Formats: sequence, C-alpha cells, structure tokens
Amino acid sequence: MSRLDSFIRRMTAQRDIINFVIAEVVEIDGPVLELGLGNGRTYDHLRENLPGKEIFVFDRAINANPRSVPDGEHMILGEIRDTLAFCRPRIKRQASLVHCDIGSGDPTTDLATCSWISPLIGPLTTKGGIVASGLTFELPEFEEIPLPEGVQKGRYYLYRKI
Ligand code: SAM
Repeated sequence: MSRLDSFIRRMTAQRDIINFVIAEVVEIDGPVLELGLGNGRTYDHLRENLPGKEIFVFDRAINANPRSVPDGEHMILGEIRDTLAFCRPRIKRQASLVHCDIGSGDPTTDLATCSWISPLIGPLTTKGGIVASGLTFELPEFEEIPLPEGVQKGRYYLYRKI
C-alpha cells in the first residue's frame, strides 16, 4: 500500500470513528475536550457536527489552519500534562467527549503518555461520556466499546464511563 493510500485509510477511519462518537454523545450534557489541535482538522469536524457543544482544545502550540483556531477562552495552551490537571474551573462541567490525538509514534513516549494521562481523564469525564483515543489508556471506571464496523482494530480505542 502506498503512503498516500495509507494516509487516506487512516483519515477515513478517524472520520468514521469521530462520526460514531458524535452520535453517541450528542444527547449527553457536557463539553468536548479535544486533546491535540494539530492542523485543526478534527477540531473543525467536531465543531461542525456538534454545533451545540462547547469544545475546549488543548495543545502546547498553535500550528493550525487559521480557520480552525478556537477563541482564547476555548484554546488551552501548554503541556497537556499540566493543563488537563488544572482545567476544571475553566471547563466547569465534566466532558461528554474526550478526543485524544496525541500519539507520538514512539512506543516509549506513548506508554509514558498513557501512564500520566489515564488518571487525569477519568474525573474529567461525565457518566456515559466517551473517550476516543489513538493511544490505549487504562481507565478503570470505563468499559471499552467496540469500534464502528469497518474500522481496523487498534486504530483507535473507545471507552465509555460506567
Ligand atoms: N487531530 C489533529 C488534526 O486533525 O489536525 C492532529 C493532532 S496532532 C497529530 C497532535 C498535536 O498534539 C500536536 O499539535 C502536538 O503539539 C500536540 N501534543 C502532543 N502531545 C502533547 C502534549 N503532551 N502537550 C500538549 N500538546 C501535545
């Protein structure tokens, strides 16, 4: 498979997963936490398809397309390890959806990320809320839910708070 094919497959899976979780959380109260603004593509998709929800976006820097940058109140700049731990007064309510796209491609870094991020995410998510992540997390108060049909196992991990 060419790199172009592989990129298209990865993006298609990401969109299918995000569409799936959007349908799951649309009726659940609480904001969305988007961990990793990047280019802003997934933020833009969430914003377009969840118009009634507040979306708080976390990144250490803004390198997004200018059309996909949140306003100052909703852009939380800094290391997610620091900002996620102290964002509760700003986001006010527990989140209905946490979308996490901060995989580094390096297995050691990703394992370290899993160990510091997992305990932060649980208390920030409302009952019934979903965590959708490119990295596997350890979330004891959550159940893992299956990926939508057609999405290759291991591309993403979905967890629902019990
Ligand atoms: N979903 C985005 C999109 O559709 O454009 C792409 C996200 S990109 C793959 C990952 C982003 O996460 C990068 O912008 C990077 O700066 C940010 N990031 C990764 N680890 C981070 C950390 N520990 N703290 C803050 N930002 C982080």
